[in-house]
Amino acid sequence: MRFSPEKLNIPDQRMKPFIDPGEIWKLLDNTKPDKQRVREVISKSLEKKRLTMEETAVLVNSIGTGLADKIKQGARDLKEKVYGNRIVLFAPLYVGNKCTNNCQYCGFRVSNRDAVRKTLSDDEIINEVEALEDNGQKRLILVYGEHPDYSPEYIAHTVKIVYGVKKGHGEIRRVNINAAPLDIEGFRTVGESGIGTYQIFQETYHPEAYKWYHLGGKKKDYEWRLTALDRAQEAGIDDVGIGALFGIYDWRFEVLGLVRHANHLEACYNVGPHTISFPRIKDALSLNIDAKYQTGDEDFKKLVAILRLAVPYTGLILTAREAPDVRREVLQYGVSQIDGGTKLELGSYSESKNEVQNLNREQFRINDPRSLAEVIDELLTNDYLPSFCTSCYRMGRTGEHFMEFSVPGFIKRFCTPNAILTLSEYICDYAKGDVAEKGWKVIERNLLKLETGVMQNTREKIERIKNGERDLYF
Ligand code: SAM
Ligand code: SF4
Repeated sequence: MRFSPEKLNIPDQRMKPFIDPGEIWKLLDNTKPDKQRVREVISKSLEKKRLTMEETAVLVNSIGTGLADKIKQGARDLKEKVYGNRIVLFAPLYVGNKCTNNCQYCGFRVSNRDAVRKTLSDDEIINEVEALEDNGQKRLILVYGEHPDYSPEYIAHTVKIVYGVKKGHGEIRRVNINAAPLDIEGFRTVGESGIGTYQIFQETYHPEAYKWYHLGGKKKDYEWRLTALDRAQEAGIDDVGIGALFGIYDWRFEVLGLVRHANHLEACYNVGPHTISFPRIKDALSLNIDAKYQTGDEDFKKLVAILRLAVPYTGLILTAREAPDVRREVLQYGVSQIDGGTKLELGSYSESKNEVQNLNREQFRINDPRSLAEVIDELLTNDYLPSFCTSCYRMGRTGEHFMEFSVPGFIKRFCTPNAILTLSEYICDYAKGDVAEKGWKVIERNLLKLETGVMQNTREKIERIKNGERDLYF
């Protein structure tokens, strides 16, 4: 259903800047934490209601008062109640690192003359995708610098190449994008190539800090970036991902900025962001950032728990920027997607290089270099249900992802069975050593949680997968 402000007689806020730093600082400066209020806010979230900015500020400000454990426990409870134990897996594929911008935190920035610039050729993209498929990947995010070479037509072209690569039982069933903001026409072109999510991180929601870090190129324009996902929505991409880069400004401000962004999209387009990402600054060539905003592990863990509670229906993405021990803990607070087997150097999936990271060729240093198989092994050991599900967007169930929470039984009817089926495929095609045995045990435990009819239906599909059929889903 398209939003029409005229009919509702409210001001049309679409494609207009929506961040008021004064409002955010006022909330941060004046909201006092007290135990009772923190409890009330957590209870509201456990009823799966999105928090207001003021309520989010209550949680942010309660940090350091001994109430942090309550917030973390609230996030754990919400995760169990709403999401269960599924974790969706994906991998990033860097297509090109040419860039005309000058972001002070990024190894690809134009002023970094030591960066080795490369754009994958069509054949190189195919090689990379085949290598990713050989590991069992089904979902990719394609990443690009901002450069005239990476036009909407070019991005759409690369998306189509990726979908066309089939090796053995391997195929990529969902291609997401992380690239520069486009105009509406550009978003339409990319959208028509069949992408899943278009992801753009605001980096910092604070306009002055933004100015300080973005010294050249188109990315200098704070408002063009802030309103980018509005234009994506106008172009018919109803599946968008937001994010802030933690470590370049006050993390508390960014948390409220993210909540404001989610509210804005929801108010204007009847659908909030599909995902929120919270990348944290990692080492990069010629990094130039203000150390005073470094976000330590403890603050990072708390801010993820707060985001979980603030936007209960939105997916949270945690990447291999973080070390395994941080990932292990943060997963409990409601992360729904992680990458596995990540390599950032262009062309490195197919060339099996990058055993030693080389910052001349990478945007930043990752801290979880484990293979997809190792990540899956650990997830299974900890009783998570790894999933490669791509069903909703292929069935046209997009733009309403909070359906999975608002429609009773949706997760048990669709998400869990689809996770089980995609894990079954993974086990049949790629699992080595005792991972298969562990995987079937996790599948059996999760089958028992389903209603009899769905369980039966899922068991039948698993048998068909064992007999060689693929891509079965609900
Ligand atoms: N060029 C596109 C853009 O700027 O939107 C693609 C983004 S970049 C390849 C993906 C994201 O990585 C950025 O939006 C930023 O949040 C993050 N990033 C950049 N430098 C980083 C660093 N040193 N450590 C961690 N994350 C970083
Ligand atoms: Fe370019 Fe994106 Fe890096 Fe900025 S963050 S320098 S736009 S690749």
